[in-house]
Amino acid sequence: MAEQHRALITGASRGIGRAVALRLAREGYAVAGCHHSGDDAARRTEEDVRVLGVPCYFARCDVADPAAVEDFVRAAEDHLGTFDLVVNNAGITRDAPLVLAPADDWDAVLATNLTGTRNVCRAMAFRFMKQRSGAIVNMSSVAGVYGNVGQTAYAASKAGIIGFSKSLAKEVARHGVRVNVVAPGFIETEMTDALPDRLREQALGQIPVRRFGRADEVAEMVAFLLSERASYVTGQVFQVDGGITL
Ligand code: NAD
Repeated sequence: MAEQHRALITGASRGIGRAVALRLAREGYAVAGCHHSGDDAARRTEEDVRVLGVPCYFARCDVADPAAVEDFVRAAEDHLGTFDLVVNNAGITRDAPLVLAPADDWDAVLATNLTGTRNVCRAMAFRFMKQRSGAIVNMSSVAGVYGNVGQTAYAASKAGIIGFSKSLAKEVARHGVRVNVVAPGFIETEMTDALPDRLREQALGQIPVRRFGRADEVAEMVAFLLSERASYVTGQVFQVDGGITL
């Protein structure tokens, strides 16, 4: 019988995280997901994953809080067993030009996006090293590679994820653990629904394929990087962006 993979996904209630949870469930993996708010969406995703016939566990957990992360990981292990895959997808935006942006927004964005990724990797990396197998995908953004107007905090957090992931990839490679980064462009989710029409139009004009991406198109890249098909790939950044950065 094939080995049962178990994936832990942050921000799994909706958008890209939900698509990743469903994609990995279709692959036959057990799935644990956390979210920060919106319990109804999380319940819907949990039901949709369960229908696919894989074991799953969904709960609230603020990734910015290291103790909460440790509790969530332990509870997820109690329900599903030992994990070998992680997707750090939880993220928030607080867009504003630097000269207008409150310091609290900087703290919130860095705490969730960058420190949250660190907290989950800190909790899982040692477990993976001991079992001498594991794969991690961290969600960045093209804003973290190229920068974006109004996104100094977000871009800093997403660029931080890239430097963090490359360093971690070097640390854990000899223990059989791979770490990669996915950097999406504009993807249709509730996050981008919040964009004003003017910005959407402007963005569309810059995307060579002339459309926003779908969450399942990002999930496909994540699924590949977590799989054995990517067994010789680590420390890399993969843009899923319709060519916006060309
Ligand atoms: P979304 O807002 O639709 O979903 C975000 C998810 O993260 C939700 O499940 C939410 O509950 C969870 N979350 C937020 N703060 C959290 C916290 N502190 N602890 C735990 N969970 C938390 O976002 P999305 O569009 O699906 O984006 C997912 C990821 O992809 C984010 O990291 C985002 O920065 C990144 N991304 C998105 C786009 C895009 O165009 N949608 C582009 C580039 C990168």
